[in-house]
Amino acid sequence: MTTPTIELKPSSNLVPAADRERILANPGFGRYFTDHMVTIRWTEGRGWHDAQLVPYAPLSLDPANMTLHYAQTIFEGLKAYRSADGSVSTFRPEANARRFQRSARRMAMPELPEELFIGACDALVKQDIDWVPGTGEESLYLRPFMFATEVGVGVHPANEFLFMVIASPAGAYFKGGVKPVSVWISEEYVRAAPGGTGEAKAGGNYASSLLAQAEATERGCDQVVWLDGIERKWVEEMGTNNLFFVYGDRIVTPAFSGSLLAGIVRDSLLTIASDLGYEVAEERISVEDWRRAAADGSLTEVFGCGTAAVITPVGRIRSKGGDWTVPATGEVTMRLRKALLDIQTGAAKDVHGWLHPVA
Ligand SMILES: *Cc1c(COP(=O)(O)O)cnc(C)c1O
Repeated sequence: MTTPTIELKPSSNLVPAADRERILANPGFGRYFTDHMVTIRWTEGRGWHDAQLVPYAPLSLDPANMTLHYAQTIFEGLKAYRSADGSVSTFRPEANARRFQRSARRMAMPELPEELFIGACDALVKQDIDWVPGTGEESLYLRPFMFATEVGVGVHPANEFLFMVIASPAGAYFKGGVKPVSVWISEEYVRAAPGGTGEAKAGGNYASSLLAQAEATERGCDQVVWLDGIERKWVEEMGTNNLFFVYGDRIVTPAFSGSLLAGIVRDSLLTIASDLGYEVAEERISVEDWRRAAADGSLTEVFGCGTAAVITPVGRIRSKGGDWTVPATGEVTMRLRKALLDIQTGAAKDVHGWLHPVA
C-alpha cells in the first residue's frame, strides 16, 4: 500500500483578517480553530487513502458510530512557534508521530506512517500560516487525532478510521507571570494502572480523570496529583503533566511504571537539564519522600511539564494525611522553562535538531 499525498482543497470563505487578528490578540487555549483541517481515511484492506486538506467544518456522524460508544480514539498535541526571523517550526513532531503509533497499537488501531503524520501537520500549518501568532510564547497548537468511523454497536476493533488534524492559536499560558499551582493528591481515584492504557494518549483516560480533577477543585486546589494504581504510594503525574522534583543541583522525575505517559517535554527537559550541568535521574518517588524532603529542605522545587502549559511550578500540596509547601521561587524551574522556550522559539541554538522547519 502506498502513502497517499495530501490533496489541497482550500476554503474560499476564510475568517476575515480583522476577526483573525482580534482572536490572535487574546486566543486563550483551545477556544478558536483555524480555517482548515486535514482528514485521512483508513479502511481495512485498503489502508490509508483520501488524504485531504479541506475547510474546517463540523462532521456528520451516525448515532451508532463506534467511537461514541466504545471510545476507540487517540490524540496528540504539539505546537508551531514563530521565530524572530518570521520562520515557523514545529517542535519534535517525529516524537509525536511515534507516540501516536504506540497509542494506536495499544488501542488496536492502525498505525499512521510517520511521514503522513508530519506531512499532515506541515500542510495545515502552511495553509493557515497567518494563524501562527507573533513571536514569544504564543503558538499554534496542533491537535492530530484518530477515531473509529465504523457504524455498529458490536464490540470489536473497528474496520475503518478517520485521522484528522485541527489547529488552535494558543496564548502565553501564564498571563502576567508564571504562578505556582496547588495540588490535591488523589488517593481514591487512579488515572491508570500497569497493563492499562495510561501510556497511550487515549480519550478515555481523560474522561476517567475528570472526577478526580473536580475533587481537587473542591479541595481548593488547581490540579490533581496521580499516584500509582497498585500501592497508591508512588507519585506518577499531575493532571495531564509529568512531574519533576528538584533537589539543589539534582533533578528527578518519576520513572516509567507502565502507567506514566511518556511526555515529550519530560524527555526534552531530561536532556536540557543534563546539558546545563544538573544531575538528572528517573526514580520512584513516594508521597512520604515528597513530604519529608520538603520538610527537611532538601527538596527545593517541584514543577509539572507538558506541551500546553510548558512548565508549571507547584507550590502547595494537600492530601488526606496533611498539607505542606515547597518553596515557590523556582530558580531552576524558571531556568529550564526559559531554556526550553528559547529552543522552541528559535532564540537559542537548536543543538539537538528538535525544530522541524515548516515555513
Ligand atoms: C500529553 C500528556 C503529558 C505531556 O506530554 P507532552 O508530550 O510533554 O506534552 C503528560 N501526561 C499526560 C497524562 C498527558 O496526556
